[in-house]
Amino acid sequence: MVATERVIKVYPLLRIDVAKLRHNAQTLVDLAKSFSISIWGVTKVLGGAPPVGAAMLAGGVTALADSRLTNLRRLASSFPDTPKVLLRLPSPRQAEAVVHIAACSLNSEWTTLQALSQAAVAAQRQHRVLLMVDVGDLREGLWPDQVIPFVKRAIGLPGLQIAGLGTNLTCYGGVIPSPKNLGILVDLARELERQGLVQCEIVSGGNSSSLQLLQEGKIPRGINNLRLGESLILGRETVSRHPIAGLHTDAVVLQAEVVEVKQKPSVPVGHIGQDAFGNKPVFVDRGLQRRAIVAIGKQDVDPGGLAPLDPGITVLGASSDHLLLDVGAYPGKVKVGQVFSFGLNYAALLAASTSAYVHKVYKNYEE
Ligand SMILES: *Cc1c(COP(=O)(O)O)cnc(C)c1O
Repeated sequence: MVATERVIKVYPLLRIDVAKLRHNAQTLVDLAKSFSISIWGVTKVLGGAPPVGAAMLAGGVTALADSRLTNLRRLASSFPDTPKVLLRLPSPRQAEAVVHIAACSLNSEWTTLQALSQAAVAAQRQHRVLLMVDVGDLREGLWPDQVIPFVKRAIGLPGLQIAGLGTNLTCYGGVIPSPKNLGILVDLARELERQGLVQCEIVSGGNSSSLQLLQEGKIPRGINNLRLGESLILGRETVSRHPIAGLHTDAVVLQAEVVEVKQKPSVPVGHIGQDAFGNKPVFVDRGLQRRAIVAIGKQDVDPGGLAPLDPGITVLGASSDHLLLDVGAYPGKVKVGQVFSFGLNYAALLAASTSAYVHKVYKNYEE
């Protein structure tokens, strides 16, 4: 469902402005470069779409990274020579596909490394491995005291090259990157080198949540890579979700059509049981309301993550296929067939970009 701008007019529609994405990528790449840090462009929230990969590469990212092999395959057909990185830990079963599709993968399990090693040898390839270290967020990674013994074993595996260490923060535990927790990663990398075990070419200090530290100049020396998705695409850092100065926050916009406009009470009439999703809704009486229904719902998007871009509009709620709006403060008349635009948070974007019902249009994209 990739279309160019001329063929649109099918809603709901995710408009992805690749010129804005390129600008965001370039701005972050330049900022990171001043600290000798390279950026991998993370495409997963947009499903590894090639126009998105192209924009990130034009902005100067050194690799494209995604959590899904399916997405990396999509990218591989457009960018065969660009290094591609698998972000989610592979399973041993995926080893063969991983060594064919990805130049590098993130890992923390011995069984998986053995499988990758065998697959790499069989394919006569070198596969690069970034070992993940858990410095506190409790998602993936070796506990710091396990890293050195693990590396001692892993360096013997043929077909694999330990490219360095990485960590991931602010994903499960919400732990904020700090000089202290990122310092653990750098210290481990230096210790591996001091013991002559591996030369850590990559020391990857996290995702978009590390940007604030970078902007404040507090990223520990020795971190030389970041993996950026949300900040690059939505223009926000991800500790407090503040817009990043100089970045576009509207590179991706969701558009949908109005299918009903009516004056109705703000409180339902009758005894209130459960809504379509088994919740008991609560209402505040605001008298009569000018309400509109937009043809988009939970099958397309996470409605709570939508921010109306048109003035005077409030989201009241949603069912699977209907988004309810209070349009009382909208300047002018709202008409059936009118198109409203919404900004999206990460959850809403993830759902919209994954929904088969949402069309995708790439603005400023030249094939
Ligand atoms: C998703 C992901 C990223 C990118 O995270 P953002 O918050 O979108 O920048 C980086 N690293 C890993 C391992 C990921 O899974």
